[in-house]
Amino acid sequence: MSYKSWFENHAQKHQNIIDKLQDLSDDEIIEYFRYENMVLQEPDFCPLYKDNKKCHDMKDLNCYLCGCSNFRLTNIKSYCSINSKYGGTIEGKDGFIHQNCSACTIPHKESFIKKNFNRSWKTMMRDVI
Ligand code: SF4
Repeated sequence: MSYKSWFENHAQKHQNIIDKLQDLSDDEIIEYFRYENMVLQEPDFCPLYKDNKKCHDMKDLNCYLCGCSNFRLTNIKSYCSINSKYGGTIEGKDGFIHQNCSACTIPHKESFIKKNFNRSWKTMMRDVI
């Protein structure tokens, strides 16, 4: 699946959950997206859930901003718009430069999500592609 296909698909899954939670406060919605709750309530949201795995080995992982609003994708590379010191790059066989976010946990922290919060995931991710 291309990143753009994943993006559209994920946006729809995210929106479906938000539609279901419209009576909750913003803080309650963010709490709902905590990894431990999502594994139980939304098993189809992430392929890692069925194996009880996380994308990042961190306590208090929040899945609200899966993908990251600091990620950028162009035709020749992906990169981090804040040049996170935890980020890196990998060059693909085709010369495409991939941003490597495997050591960066910024978008999975609730402080970051609260600071940038919007009930529309696509709005939060508007500068990515
Ligand atoms: S943040 Fe990680 S664990 Fe959560 S949905 Fe995204 S990939 Fe899965």
